[in-house]
Amino acid sequence: MTYQKWCDEFAKKHAAIISKLEGKSTEAIIKYFDYDNMKKQEPTFCLLYAENKKCHDMKHLNCYLCACPHFRFDDGGIKKKGEKTLYSFCSIHHKNGAVFESDHALHQDCSNCIVPHKESFIKKLFDKKWNNIMKDTSYGGNHKEKGDEKNIN
Ligand code: SF4
Repeated sequence: MTYQKWCDEFAKKHAAIISKLEGKSTEAIIKYFDYDNMKKQEPTFCLLYAENKKCHDMKHLNCYLCACPHFRFDDGGIKKKGEKTLYSFCSIHHKNGAVFESDHALHQDCSNCIVPHKESFIKKLFDKKWNNIMKDTSYGGNHKEKGDEKNIN
């Protein structure tokens, strides 16, 4: 599955839950997306729930964003770096980010970064429409048109 397809599917699942929570406060909506609650109330939202696993080993993991608004990707490739193609990077170069390298590709590795899973971060960027929060993540077009190459390592 491409990252864009994953985003499209996630946005739909997210919107379905938001419509169920109509009338609830921002705080209550964010709390609803707490990993432990989601596992009980929305067991099919994430494949990890059934295995009792978390994507990140942290207390109070929140699934509201799942992805990160600082992530930048282009499924078609952002640029060539030597023989390899860079597909994604972190726009803030977070110290806990890393690069996953295969024979032909470079991908951002966020496995040690918990930024988008913290309630405080979600509160700051809160929008009921997940796509609004993630609007800058798709690198294709948008950023290329702006010539915003300075954020790529
Ligand atoms: S944040 Fe982690 S546990 Fe929660 S839905 Fe996303 S992948 Fe699953």
